Amino acid sequence: MTGVLSGKDLAAAIRAEAKRACEGALVTPRLAVVVATDDESSAWYVRSIAAAAARTGLDCQVVDLGAGASPEEVEATLAGLSAEESVHGLMLQTPLPKGARLEELARAIDPVKDVDGANPLSLGLLAAGLPAFAPATAEAVMALLDHHGVELPGKTVTVVGRSNVVGKPLAHLLLARDATVTVAHSRTADLAAVTRTADVVVAAAGRPGLITAAHLRPGAVVIDVGTNATEDGGLVGDVADVSGVAGAVTPVPGGVGPVTTALLLAHTVEASRA
Ligand code: NAD
Repeated sequence: MTGVLSGKDLAAAIRAEAKRACEGALVTPRLAVVVATDDESSAWYVRSIAAAAARTGLDCQVVDLGAGASPEEVEATLAGLSAEESVHGLMLQTPLPKGARLEELARAIDPVKDVDGANPLSLGLLAAGLPAFAPATAEAVMALLDHHGVELPGKTVTVVGRSNVVGKPLAHLLLARDATVTVAHSRTADLAAVTRTADVVVAAAGRPGLITAAHLRPGAVVIDVGTNATEDGGLVGDVADVSGVAGAVTPVPGGVGPVTTALLLAHTVEASRA
């Protein structure tokens, strides 16, 4: 039987703790989200962050520059918000305007406010095992594994995807917990060969159905980070039907996603106390 590793209870618990912290705080924690796209799934995500913030007792300031914004405009906006005392957490929503790179623009986010770990300085600190905010998605994967009692020391974990916001930071977080980590990517010659040896497979490629039962050893734990929009307005992950082979798998939606949003809020509360 393949188990379902839901993220809903964990997300609710993280939000409840953040709410308690907000109730006892002298200043209301504020998260600023800079948007420079008209992408519909991005708009949906930003609305869900704002709604979760409101329910939890945080202020959420959405700064929508529109899809036509220049990289310079985005950078200047981030620098301005970084300098604002009332802003505790700051994130830049993707996708970005053509020609812009998240890694470059996010350098304008003050690392103490970098609640989604987008500034390359945060990734460097994380890699060195020094205090920094990890990208909320990478931390959500770790939180889900812990919540569901998946042991990591000595286990083999294959992360599929090497982006600076998911795959790479996650590999560092897993190494810090004594897992033996392999990172696969679009140029990996034989993906199934490196996923089939793993006790835990994390799919973060943004390719619907990429991981099938043939990619897994029986009993493997599968974490599906992928969020791919379907034509009918739904959401699917990167993992096909692996029931009967996987030991457990996270659902999409309802797995990594809600935990990611809850952690963004928790990071903002933490930043407001610094
Ligand atoms: P990205 O496009 O920056 O990176 C994708 C990575 O996957 C790349 O490193 C690429 O080499 C690898 N890849 C692509 N095709 C592959 C293939 N066929 N085989 C092996 N590797 C392949 O994406 P990202 O920002 O890292 O996001 C990855 C996925 O996670 C997307 O679906 C995104 O929507 C989702 N995501 C979800 C959350 C959440 O909260 N659930 C948050 C962030 C991103």
